[in-house]
Amino acid sequence: MTRVFNFSAGPAMLPEPVLEQARDEMLDWNGTGMSVMEMSHRGKAFMSIAESAERDLRVLMGIPDNYKVLFLQGGASAQFAMVPMNLLRGRTRVDYVNTGAWSRKAIAEARRFADVNVVATGEDSGFNAIPAFESWRCADDAAYLHYTPNETIGGVEFHWIPDTGDVPLVADMSSTILSRPVDVSRYGVIYAGAQKNIGPAGLTIAIVREDLIGETVSGTPTMFDYKTHAESGSMYNTPPTYGWYLAGLVFKWLLDMGGLEAMARINRRKAEKLYAAIDGSDFYSNPVDPACRSWMNVPFTLANPELDAEFLKEAAALGLTTLKGHRSVGGMRASIYNAMPEAGVSALVDFMAEFEQRKG
Ligand SMILES: *Cc1c(COP(=O)(O)O)cnc(C)c1O
Repeated sequence: MTRVFNFSAGPAMLPEPVLEQARDEMLDWNGTGMSVMEMSHRGKAFMSIAESAERDLRVLMGIPDNYKVLFLQGGASAQFAMVPMNLLRGRTRVDYVNTGAWSRKAIAEARRFADVNVVATGEDSGFNAIPAFESWRCADDAAYLHYTPNETIGGVEFHWIPDTGDVPLVADMSSTILSRPVDVSRYGVIYAGAQKNIGPAGLTIAIVREDLIGETVSGTPTMFDYKTHAESGSMYNTPPTYGWYLAGLVFKWLLDMGGLEAMARINRRKAEKLYAAIDGSDFYSNPVDPACRSWMNVPFTLANPELDAEFLKEAAALGLTTLKGHRSVGGMRASIYNAMPEAGVSALVDFMAEFEQRKG
């Protein structure tokens, strides 16, 4: 068996100890004689898995008691609708920050329900910078402000939290959750699809302040009401049990690694190493304002795009896979989430230098 360093933006790598434990427990979880996939979600065994996953996530992120943690389906994309459906609470205006592709999708969906005020847009910079907070034009009567702390495609990340006062702050943390400590109390809602930094695809986590739950727009389907899931411990219907279990293993792994402070140190080191390699060469470049470069997704281009295919092929032969950039950006993108070992980044940087020497 050979494992590669998989730089995919998502579904992404999972920590090897997690996969090994899942393998060992595949046919018989903890003496139950069955796989987690075969268990009733309401049975004692799965309930203990579910509860310890939530407990560990609460410890990792320091989630205050007045927040619910919901284990949902539908991906971050379903949250694009669930957020306005639950948070409008009789208002009509909502604030959105547009920093790139995922912001735009969230905005388009919110427009189905609300009068969307785009408070700031990164358009002038080609979405390679985050507009200064002083320039944001927030509405006084907004039901909430939504932003995307890490734009997975553009590789643009907030290294600060917007201060929206009493207006609830909503964050699509799909590609940055668990990469560093975060002050959850600053947020109304945090949500994330699991397949980047939490676990396998199919699970979506929403962390919702309790006072924002309970008043939906008329016609909201039961499954789109946070209250449905908050009141049932995310067991109104069958939750994504196996994804929940694997997420729990990832949370335990993160605790073993030293928690999010330790992950932040590692993630910063990995990102700095890769950006230094890019900036230190005339052959590779990254267009993002250094003040808001992502720790998780690092797009870069080659001076000669005709070498792209060769770069990808040679990288893959060395076990460095899925480096092709998003079709809207071109070039390369290295996604270096929590589960990407530092050795993977080192191997990539070494290959980049060697490739440049031969072809640059
Ligand atoms: C991947 C991603 C999404 C889409 O997630 P799905 O779970 O596929 O719906 C949304 N927002 C961000 C920031 C992402 O990285």
